[in-house]
Amino acid sequence: MADRKECAHEMLAAGPIAKVRRCRECDVVSIELGPTTVRLEPGAVESLWSTLGRAIEAMRARREPPPLTTWGASPPRGLS
Ligand SMILES: [Zn+2]
Repeated sequence: MADRKECAHEMLAAGPIAKVRRCRECDVVSIELGPTTVRLEPGAVESLWSTLGRAIEAMRARREPPPLTTWGASPPRGLS
């Protein structure tokens, strides 16, 4: 065996566009996005998560609000 430990990646989560693995030896998190892999420390992953959440909120705020408040006010045609 070599002195240097080999990386031992474990899958944390996998979705349709990203896979997230963590190395048990280095404690580095690898985020695989298609052909790109970003390696971050766990604290940086939490910061990225927070930034992504704010970006999603900003995107949703720029869209038309969902028509939930109009329910009951104008029923679909054929139901009245
Ligand atoms: Zn490693």
